[in-house]
Amino acid sequence: MQNLIQAQRTFFNTNATKDIKFRKQQLQKLFDVLKENEQLMFDAIYTDFKKSSFDTFTTELALVYSDIKEAIKKVDDWSRIKNKRTNMLNFPAKSYVIPEPLGVSLVIGAWNYPYQLSFAPAVSAIVAGCTVVLKPSEIPENTSKVMAKIINDNFAPEFFKVVEGGVEATTELLKQQFDKIFFTGSTTVGRIVYQAAAKHLTPVTLELGGKSPAFITANANLKIAAKRLVWSKFLNAGQTCIAPDYLIVHKSIKDEFLNLLKTEIENSHFDPDNKNYVQIVNRKNTERLVKLIDSKKVVFGGDYNLEERIISPTILDNITFEDKIMEEEIFGPILPIIYYDDLDAIVAKVKQLPKPLSCYVFTKSKSAKNKILNEISFGGGCINEAVMHLSNPNFGFGGVGDSGMGSYHGEEGFKAFSHYKSILDKPTWIEPNLKYYPQTSLKLKLIKLFFGLK
Ligand code: NAD
Repeated sequence: MQNLIQAQRTFFNTNATKDIKFRKQQLQKLFDVLKENEQLMFDAIYTDFKKSSFDTFTTELALVYSDIKEAIKKVDDWSRIKNKRTNMLNFPAKSYVIPEPLGVSLVIGAWNYPYQLSFAPAVSAIVAGCTVVLKPSEIPENTSKVMAKIINDNFAPEFFKVVEGGVEATTELLKQQFDKIFFTGSTTVGRIVYQAAAKHLTPVTLELGGKSPAFITANANLKIAAKRLVWSKFLNAGQTCIAPDYLIVHKSIKDEFLNLLKTEIENSHFDPDNKNYVQIVNRKNTERLVKLIDSKKVVFGGDYNLEERIISPTILDNITFEDKIMEEEIFGPILPIIYYDDLDAIVAKVKQLPKPLSCYVFTKSKSAKNKILNEISFGGGCINEAVMHLSNPNFGFGGVGDSGMGSYHGEEGFKAFSHYKSILDKPTWIEPNLKYYPQTSLKLKLIKLFFGLK
């Protein structure tokens, strides 16, 4: 690993990646090799957890392709030197900011959307002019292998290399000195990564998880809310970092909304008998999820098959914040419902919890919407929709507090892997003597004036 990182550092120091043409070529190459190997990727992910090629394309590859296209189109603009106004104190001078790539980067991916969560940060790194060591999650082993094959067969290791492995390999990687670490995964491992990065003062982006709530007020369009929530919750068998983790529903619509949710699930393709019903990624997670199903609270589903790693879409009703299911991020097809009476009280309660990655509000009420948006801190979210904010390329995506730090996609991704050098560029034909001795009261007066002070 030391040799690999040294080779990347040597390559980075040749300035090859600072050439915008080089970045565009590498991005186009990435686009092309992913396209050529699409079928391999579809097959691998189906073997790992039965994700269909339709879902893999729409929720993973489409986002990566669109990020690459956007990066190629915008890199000239993002990387150009930006002029800034020079303040009076420094007059005459030019002021500008130079974006520079941070250097050798490490991208660590999570397993739930393995292609998207590995390649999208790599696109951000490449467009910013960094070299990349990519460590995909080892859990879906076929997707990890395919990514290693596609990248390592087509890119020079000193520029872009996939290193496969689990905790041991990642721990070893984290001992090395990188110029940027981009991590996607759990809050627990995020802390480990942050501590390792601190040793070398390496900047980090942490894309973590958490329990994302969805509020449904009494006056919401309930049919639409049920349809959108069922899709976003059970997509990928609930293994989505921004999935609505639990619902907060006004108690006056309890029966009506519960019935709508059940009907939506019944009418959906989220059916364990469907050959494309996504599996839980491994036995350990299946067992963890099964333990979270409190049979006394099941009002829909609750069936599972440990061998097949399948859990049917499940609704748990009348949940309280004290229930076991509310202790950790669910990350599976189990939907708990908490009922509320008083919006002020429930918002106050949610504010006491760790800051979630997302928050969703289904309502026609402006005041309810504004209250939730203004009072609860969270990464990002939607009104009368769930999950889809991720698909708007004009947004940065990231968490806050326990759900992460920093953001990416589009220009935010470029910024995540860049440093902005501020330059004051002075001419020599004049030498204002304000800062030099002797210190007179007139000079002080002028300095105060230039600072905008009396
Ligand atoms: P994880 O934290 O277990 O693993 C993530 C990566 O860290 C993997 O590559 C793994 O090999 C590595 N890793 C695991 N343990 C390690 C250790 N002790 N030391 C060093 N490296 C280690 O997460 P996961 O199970 O792959 O993914 C699920 C979590 O990721 C959920 O919490 C989910 O919300 C979160 N997530 C967040 C986003 C986001 O964009 N914010 C996206 C997807 C998933």
